[in-house]
Amino acid sequence: MYRIKGRSVPSCPDGLYYYCSAEICSKGNRMLVPLAYLDAAVNDAVMVMADQPHLVITVTPGNDHSEEIAQIKKDVTELDVESDTYDSDLARFRVEIARLRELDRTEAKAAKTEVNPDGRTIGEVWESLGTAARRQWLLARNGSGWLPGQDKVRVKVGPRDPELGIWPIDIDLGEFTDSILSLATT
Ligand SMILES: [Zn+2]
Repeated sequence: MYRIKGRSVPSCPDGLYYYCSAEICSKGNRMLVPLAYLDAAVNDAVMVMADQPHLVITVTPGNDHSEEIAQIKKDVTELDVESDTYDSDLARFRVEIARLRELDRTEAKAAKTEVNPDGRTIGEVWESLGTAARRQWLLARNGSGWLPGQDKVRVKVGPRDPELGIWPIDIDLGEFTDSILSLATT
């Protein structure tokens, strides 16, 4: 869904709505949901966990020496072939590259993922953010994985209930925030 400015009506005084994307929903099945209504529902869902610690994922890159090796290869191209130490310098660089290659073969190269509290509560973080930053924050959160393939936050809106006059909303805010994206918003 995306935001549109539509008609102001009593149930939507500011005329701002979320509207289904044409690429996702077919004509005749697109919903128009008042923006304030949906935003309030998401806000309520976040506030339920306002006191919980704000957990962020930090990823430590894997221990790989490809950058150092590339630098040494560059150094090799700059050796002076007329230098007295050319042979020994070249040999020294070759030994160093072999040593780093061996490290990459034997040491664990996998990136390390840690989940830690960042000292703030979810409520503090949420309330410090504006609309655009809240969107980024939600997009940066990892899904709860309750359902297969549910790796992102999900806000699902059903068709309007004609009797109650409301849109059923199902919100899963997931668990952790990806630190890289969440930090970019603060
Ligand atoms: Zn839709």
